[in-house]
This record gives sequence, structure tokens and C-alpha cells, in this order.
Amino acid sequence: MFKDFFDLVFPDICISCENALLKGEKNICLVCMHKLPKTDFHLHEDNELCRKLWGRVPLKFGLAYLQFNKGGRVQNILHHIKYKEAKEAAVMLGNWYSEDLYKAGYADKFDLIVPVPLHKKKLRKRGYNQSTCFAQGLAEGLEINYSEKILVREKEQSSQTNKNRIDRWSNVKEIYKINDPTEIINKKILLADDVATTGATIEVCAQELLKAGAAEISIAVMAIAF
Ligand SMILES: [Zn+2]
Repeated sequence: MFKDFFDLVFPDICISCENALLKGEKNICLVCMHKLPKTDFHLHEDNELCRKLWGRVPLKFGLAYLQFNKGGRVQNILHHIKYKEAKEAAVMLGNWYSEDLYKAGYADKFDLIVPVPLHKKKLRKRGYNQSTCFAQGLAEGLEINYSEKILVREKEQSSQTNKNRIDRWSNVKEIYKINDPTEIINKKILLADDVATTGATIEVCAQELLKAGAAEISIAVMAIAF
């Protein structure tokens, strides 16, 4: 009874439309759920995400659950996931997408899901990596493993010393490293990320995984923003 009273005064809100959630709804209300702008890239192997990466890195499948539009539902959802601790929603999106992927026959297309990592400092500050949450949701639905220990992100200071302070700052470059190559050798890896914009992160991570011996790389993102 206390919980009912509490819900009346402080109802949980939909992270997409910000209306109060009804009983049984979680994170995203039913109306928003049915109106989510899905890409259906999993039904079209030659899709925009794959084309974005053409000639940059060989991708087996380019999968994106949602289409990001400025001011739209997906922007709200991603904002809550990234800045308002809605990590459960990232797992939920992974679960929902995995249902579509499962039905389309993707369950045996991958051996392992690897999330794009956050830098340690950022992870400590935010408390979670939204890409790992998404990977977890996908892994549960597709019944395959995910591991956040394989791919790590570090900052590399440029060795050049004759730069002014601003140049030095912009020279702090993010790099990705493989922790344990034995985990990925000859494996079909599904890389999981939150949003694809330029594709630069996907490109670098996929290259590292392939260099370390992965058999093939696919990518799954919560949304594309291009
Ligand atoms: Zn809603």
C-alpha cells in the first residue's frame, strides 16, 4: 500500500515521452514501445550501417535497432540511458532487439558479444557502461555470452613535446586494446555499441579485434544517428 501511495506522488516516468508509466510498464510506456522507429537493418544485409563502413573495415552484419532523430523518442531514451542512470532500459532494448534478431535466425551467427568499452575514469563516474548493458540484453535473448573484459579503452599521450598546451590536449588520443586474445581467436564477434554516428569507433574496435585473431566482426548498436 505504501508503494502505491509513493507511486501516486512520485510516479515512474516513461524515459521516452516522460508521461507517468502505468502498472506493468517499465522504463518505456506501451505507446512509445509500439512507435519506436526501428531500422529493420537485420532484414537487409546491404543497409546504411554496412555501407557507412564499406572500405574501412570488413563487417559481416551491420545491425541497428533504432533510428535516432533529433528531438524524437530515441533521443530522449538515449539521454536517459547515458545521463540519468536508466541502465535497465539499455538491457531492455537489448532484450527487445534480440527477439527480432532471434526470429530472423541470428542466434547462431555469433560466438561472443563484446561491448565497446568506456574509459576507466568515465566508467567510475557513470557507474555503468551503457554498451555493456545493451550487450547483456542481447546476450540474454540470443543465449550467447558477452564479455566486457576483452576490449579495453585507454588514453595515450602523444610523445611529441614541442606542442603548445592546446595541441597537447587534442593529442590525447583514445586507443582500444585487446586484453585476452585467446578469448576471441577464430570467433565470430558481435560488437555492441550505443550510437553509431561517424562509425569511427566501430572501425577502430573492429580492426583491433580482427588483428587479434577474430574470425569475423558484426556490429549491433541501439541506434544510428546519420
Ligand atoms: Zn512513453
